[in-house]
Amino acid sequence: MNVAPLGAYTNQFIQQEEQFSAHNYHPLPVVIQRAENVFMWDVEGVRYYDFLSGYSSVNQGHCHPKIISSCIKQVQELTLTSRAFHHHLFGPYSEYITTLFGYDKVLPMNTGVEAVETAIKLCRKWAYEKKSIPSNAAKIIVCEGNFHGRTSGVISFSTDLESIRNFGPYLPGFIAIPYNDYAALENALSDPHVAGFLVEPIQGEAGVVVPTDGYLSKAAKLCRDKKVLLIADEIQTGLGRTGKRLACDHENVRPDILILGKALSGGLIPVSAVLADDEIMLTIQPGQHGSTYGGNPLACAIARTALEVIEEEQMADNATERGIQLREGINKINSTYIKLVRGKGLLNAIVISHQDTNAAWNLCIEMMKKGLLAKPTQGDKIRLAPPLTINSVQIEEALEIIKQSLPVLNYR
Ligand code: PLP
Repeated sequence: MNVAPLGAYTNQFIQQEEQFSAHNYHPLPVVIQRAENVFMWDVEGVRYYDFLSGYSSVNQGHCHPKIISSCIKQVQELTLTSRAFHHHLFGPYSEYITTLFGYDKVLPMNTGVEAVETAIKLCRKWAYEKKSIPSNAAKIIVCEGNFHGRTSGVISFSTDLESIRNFGPYLPGFIAIPYNDYAALENALSDPHVAGFLVEPIQGEAGVVVPTDGYLSKAAKLCRDKKVLLIADEIQTGLGRTGKRLACDHENVRPDILILGKALSGGLIPVSAVLADDEIMLTIQPGQHGSTYGGNPLACAIARTALEVIEEEQMADNATERGIQLREGINKINSTYIKLVRGKGLLNAIVISHQDTNAAWNLCIEMMKKGLLAKPTQGDKIRLAPPLTINSVQIEEALEIIKQSLPVLNYR
């Protein structure tokens, strides 16, 4: 097992970053230099298991050879045209992704939050032009504890104080209801100005909060009955992460608007997408929405290959099996410091039970020293989300690291 020294290089890079970059993150004290599949190596040459996967962006494993070679080939030929001109990869990519997910059209964007913004604009446009909601009166229902990104528009409906404090004024038109609560949804849907319900099938950033079985399918029915669009943010839960192509597939739910991001590029460049049928998508006409980089040739080449390898290598099935192994293994550790482990596929979290509010952080530091990188979320939860390519031997080794790290919490 690795023991990571906080070496001279590491300190130097961290100090430089502290001095010259904004302090909007609180990273673990490790400086990564390279990565391959489920492993990352730091500047001291120490190897780690990556149990964050770039917040589920490298589902396919770091530097997947097929995605990298598709990138290298494309980068030497054509990278950007803007959508002012057609390019020969956009049509085939659009056909591939819409066929795979079963929608009429795709609208390509870059980061996840841009795709969420796009979905909101699309939903509002549809509300005025197809549902006859009076001008500027459309509302979108969201869930407490949501995380959909960081723009001014999207934080306007966050319920996390840290994310919103002193960033106002906020965008109106959102109704926040408790997550996993049918009665609250039914009640909110009685407002005739509601146009959409934006939901994460599992709340990732909130600490991998998994709703009750049947929640999504019931929510979908409630929305359909009220002619309200179900908008699924699958940026973190999609693309095999939870053991299905989409987390919505666990309940055979087909959202009216589907939002994808992160692993859509296998961790190479920001690529996101919004998928919907013509009735919704064609409410947006030329000049009404866009993005200079959205749908660029490089993104199309990478995203297509990123999707292909998930299918070809049956990564969703591996996520199911390895996820069961991981949760069973953690339950067997049977530590008083682990309140519970929850998740689906390879999107999991352990909830730490300890008097010290820094306990989850301290455990992550100890796991880092023993060769596994994971990050606390919401203080007391540690997300465990390795690349979907991880094998059973590697899961066992990771479990051993977690087990051997837990005694670091013996100080209470
Ligand atoms: N939506 C969800 C569910 C996410 O988990 C994230 C990022 O963590 C986003 C949206 C925002 O994506 P991005 O950081 O690429 O803007």
